[in-house]
Amino acid sequence: MNRFFIRKLLYPAYRAIKRDGVLDYLAEMHRVEKLEPEQVREFQWKKFKELLEYSAKHVPYYRDVFKRLGAEPGDIKTEKDLQSFPVLRKDDIRENPDALISEIYPRSQLDPDSTGGSTGKNLYFFVGKEASEARRANNIRTNRWLDVDIGDKMALLWGSAFDEDRSRKIKNVLKRYFSNTMLLSAYRMDEDSVHDYARRLQRFGPDMMLGYPSALAHFSASLIEAGIDGIRPRPVVLSGETFYDWQREVIEKAFHIKAYNHYGCREFGAIARECKLRDGLHICAERVLLEELPVTDSTSGDTFTELLVTDLDSFGMPFIRYAIEDMGTITWEKCSCGLGLPRLETTIGRTFDVVRAPNGNFLGGTFWTILLRKKQGIERWQVIQEKLDEITIAFIPTDDFSDEIRQYVIGKVREACGEEMRVRFELKPSLDSTPTGKHRFVISKIGLKGENDAGQAQG
Ligand SMILES: [Zn+2]
Repeated sequence: MNRFFIRKLLYPAYRAIKRDGVLDYLAEMHRVEKLEPEQVREFQWKKFKELLEYSAKHVPYYRDVFKRLGAEPGDIKTEKDLQSFPVLRKDDIRENPDALISEIYPRSQLDPDSTGGSTGKNLYFFVGKEASEARRANNIRTNRWLDVDIGDKMALLWGSAFDEDRSRKIKNVLKRYFSNTMLLSAYRMDEDSVHDYARRLQRFGPDMMLGYPSALAHFSASLIEAGIDGIRPRPVVLSGETFYDWQREVIEKAFHIKAYNHYGCREFGAIARECKLRDGLHICAERVLLEELPVTDSTSGDTFTELLVTDLDSFGMPFIRYAIEDMGTITWEKCSCGLGLPRLETTIGRTFDVVRAPNGNFLGGTFWTILLRKKQGIERWQVIQEKLDEITIAFIPTDDFSDEIRQYVIGKVREACGEEMRVRFELKPSLDSTPTGKHRFVISKIGLKGENDAGQAQG
């Protein structure tokens, strides 16, 4: 469909019929993002205080929290005061699904949703009307940072089993047609699918592509190998997984463009994205309050910062100081692009992406990639840690896998992790993706703080 027709007429008309607040949220975001960091902070804090007051009054779970603290919302005046406020862990939500829902919020305006998470344990929650509208606006806004607007053609390399069923519904097929969106499943990545996707994308001519880095990198490598050129999105956006530089490089090579990092999740939608300068990810501070929670490892004394997220628009089921299980550091120093939003400086990745070694070391994705990528005899691999002193390297072997390679890898792992680290090799015909189709290179099931040291590894 014609993008200008969608942008100027169809989309505004659709929002007017829906009588929702998406366009208001959008205008507000564009206003606030241009303010000075100090003013952005003020705006954010004002929204946070409203949410806090509301939650203390209408959400049983938070009413209890304040009672336990012997405090009132008014006692929390600064971000520092917040540190005494409890962190909301995924298990807290699983154990208190009803107490977290507002007593006065209309049920008809709550949308059920769930997230699989890499540990495979589902989390069910509700998204209120304001939060879904703000999310929609935020998607448009973050795309505009990369010069992509409403009506531009979007190709998504995406998919969870749940989404795939929904995607075939006629309503959703029509929605994609009228919003110029093409959905390609990240599940199917065999040779036939790659060629089929390439043909469809060449015809479609996407302005932007968005997908899992692992799927996009695999697709890109296949395109290069097959000599297929001519798919030219303006930006590619990498979302849903932590990625490695080589993945970004192969994607940029296949499409001759820049790829940008996007950080979001099922619970909140977009949280942060790189602007064109790619100097950290701009946090969508009108939508979410991000905090750093320092975590110190008892053995090594090393400190990491875990991220806590508060959804500032979620009144139906407020998530306050939610431990999203990712790490990162935040800076409020202004970006040279002019946006006053804070930035995520580093994302070391999901907390379970780091192997915690018996000697106190933490080994992130890069260590394992350098060790195992392009090793003779190892085609694809996955590192799984179930216990502190044992890792499993699951891999698809090629003919030239040898004992020499095995010994080399074991030697390097012990050098980094300590002699007591056991290394198991598991030959596999194929490697599991998560239920949402993501490939995870490193899965640690013991957590950063070692809460599962006693061997109760989470399924
Ligand atoms: Zn910027």
